[in-house]
Amino acid sequence: MNTYENITLKCAECECDFDFSPEEQEFYNEKGFSTPKRCASCRSRNRQRKNDRRGGGGGRQQVRYEATCSDCGVETTVPFKPNQDKPLYCPDCYKKLKENGTI
Ligand SMILES: [Zn+2]
Ligand SMILES: [Zn+2]
Repeated sequence: MNTYENITLKCAECECDFDFSPEEQEFYNEKGFSTPKRCASCRSRNRQRKNDRRGGGGGRQQVRYEATCSDCGVETTVPFKPNQDKPLYCPDCYKKLKENGTI
């Protein structure tokens, strides 16, 4: 039977000392996990962050629509559905026309 002693480890993230209790060591050993590098609060925070990323991932990828610049005719993409009635400009022309006060 293995006997574990309480070990104090240093968190790689917040650099605090945290206990690696005998129960945890046993659990980690059983699961074949290696010694944790972060304290419990940093670990749960990281887990939380990962969940956030997974949950909100859909909004991050922006849909782009293909469009042709009404000014120079170059192919461009816009983050909104092109409106046939309104002229569309590529970023260069948009900037240029905006500076000229045309749009
Ligand atoms: Zn920490
Ligand atoms: Zn253009």
